[in-house]
Amino acid sequence: QEVREKIAAGEVIERPLSVVKELVENSIDAGAARISVSLSQGGKSWIVVEDDGRGIPFEDLPMAVLRYATSKIKSLDDLFNIRSLGFRGEALASIGAVSRMEIRSRFEGDDVGGLILCEGGEVLACHRIPRQLGTTVRVEELFYNLPARRKFLRAAAAETRRISQFIQEMSLVWHDRWFTLTSDGRRILDRRPVGSKREAAQALWGCEPREGRMEMDGIRCVTLWSGHGDGRGGMVIFVNQRRVWDTNIRAAIQGASGSARGDWVVFIDLPPEDVDVNVHPTKGEVRFKRPRDIFSVVYGAVQSAVGIVTM
Ligand code: ADP
Ligand code: MG
Repeated sequence: QEVREKIAAGEVIERPLSVVKELVENSIDAGAARISVSLSQGGKSWIVVEDDGRGIPFEDLPMAVLRYATSKIKSLDDLFNIRSLGFRGEALASIGAVSRMEIRSRFEGDDVGGLILCEGGEVLACHRIPRQLGTTVRVEELFYNLPARRKFLRAAAAETRRISQFIQEMSLVWHDRWFTLTSDGRRILDRRPVGSKREAAQALWGCEPREGRMEMDGIRCVTLWSGHGDGRGGMVIFVNQRRVWDTNIRAAIQGASGSARGDWVVFIDLPPEDVDVNVHPTKGEVRFKRPRDIFSVVYGAVQSAVGIVTM
């Protein structure tokens, strides 16, 4: 039982970045305007994510840390109609299984908050506490009970770099939120809310992005390009606000941009029923019902950013 729990947890939680990703996604789902992430030793010592979102009702705290107890998937159809970032109800349970995790939260409308403390998947304490609206999750000693996995973690600086990259990417899609990252007491990122994705990309690149668009049969694509320059040719792709890795879309960007160098951010929006995001527990891979149409729309939107006019 305990072994199974740890294996399942390991599928979702690979490294400090996975913890940060799941916690930040929960904050976004909770409607937070302000999300602050703090780390010590690249997250190997501790990670704290704090938000001002709607909070977790005290009675729900034990459920929140139980695997699948909060799953939003009640039927197969639900899989094709997902509007929140989280839906499997396994992130907090997984984190709690491989660390010492403390959640403090107060739900909107409640006048006292609650605290729950888990260690290696067991609830050690759960009681009421006074606190402000919102949620703070503290994760200590990640993989303390999985020494083999702990050994595979990189140096603190490398783990911090990944997390910083992730938060910068989040600030592109969730540009109306305020993200900060503090590492070993030093504020290393401060992304204030801005009015558009374009402004968010400008804050990231330090130059005016070029923009391309295309729309066809309910598939909408907006591309932002850093322009010629010494960009390393990064491609960051979002599908319905979700960061994805997809070779088909990468091929479209590569093919359409030709010799144009620079960084790309690509936003694709389509009806949720046309995309399956439940391919893998970390949700980085998606499956499209109409991959060829996606290819064409991205291709066109990339061409329009680099200034190639298509008939
Ligand atoms: P999922 O996000 O897939 O539902 P999680 O294990 O990540 O599963 O979270 C379990 C539940 O706990 C969520 O569905 C949500 O109701 C609640 N929750 C977690 N984090 C927060 C947060 N920061 N603010 C409000 N509610 C939260
Ligand atoms: Mg979640």
